[in-house]
Amino acid sequence: MSKHQKETAPVIVKHKHCLICSTPIPMSKDFCSSTCEQENKRLVRRRRYTFIATLAMFPVLLILLTLFSRR
Ligand SMILES: [Zn+2]
Repeated sequence: MSKHQKETAPVIVKHKHCLICSTPIPMSKDFCSSTCEQENKRLVRRRRYTFIATLAMFPVLLILLTLFSRR
C-alpha cells in the first residue's frame, strides 16, 4: 500500500485493488480473477475457523485458571 509512485496523469480513474494480489481492478469487481476469488474464500474460511478456535479456547483457559487458583 505504501509503495505509491507519483502519477503523471492528472486524472485518477476510480478503481480499487484486488483483495488478494492488489492488482488494480474496476469498482464493480472485488477480485482480478476467479483464482483470487477462490483464494479469498479459502482465507475467509480459515479466518472463521481461527475465530471459532479462539472462542473455544476461552472456556478451556477459564477451567485451567480455576484449577490452578484452587491450589
Ligand atoms: Zn488478484
